Amino acid sequence: MLAISLTRLEREGMVGVEEEIPPQHPAWADTSLNLATALSVRGRVRWLGGGEVAASLTLEASLHRECRRCLEPMVEELRLEVFAVFAPASRGEDDDGEIRYFPAGAAELNLLGAVREEVILGTSPYPLCRPDCLGLCPHCGANRNFEPCSCSEGTADPRWQTLRALREQLERTNGSS
Ligand SMILES: [Zn+2]
Ligand SMILES: [Zn+2]
Repeated sequence: MLAISLTRLEREGMVGVEEEIPPQHPAWADTSLNLATALSVRGRVRWLGGGEVAASLTLEASLHRECRRCLEPMVEELRLEVFAVFAPASRGEDDDGEIRYFPAGAAELNLLGAVREEVILGTSPYPLCRPDCLGLCPHCGANRNFEPCSCSEGTADPRWQTLRALREQLERTNGSS
């Protein structure tokens, strides 16, 4: 459970977290995330006093992604170090990025929402199947990682061919005069 008992935390000062959130968990249902493995959540939660809580967590998962250059399916290995401070909301504060708020008087603090958000923000906006992915040929659409298409030899733009033909024609005309 990612729900931490606050009375236990206050009593013990620190609680370890070791959880797996499976790919089919409802937390991922309305996201575009497609987990290949369960998300591992490991770390500890500390009581800071005054009702405040600090969590240091390591999040790890493999995600099904699509390479942004060649569009092939790929797996992104996600590993995030997360540090978050939680405080009881006295006047319904909004999360300000630095501190997350939970209802004052709550019996437990559920880390799931924060974990879910960190994973969404932590995935690469530009996943590549490999750093030097050659991508798709803009002319024939071939995946240049697999097939060296014939366009790559004669990459000449047709407009240049027209100019070259014109120049050759001019040179011939000049040469004959
Ligand atoms: Zn690629
Ligand atoms: Zn091509």
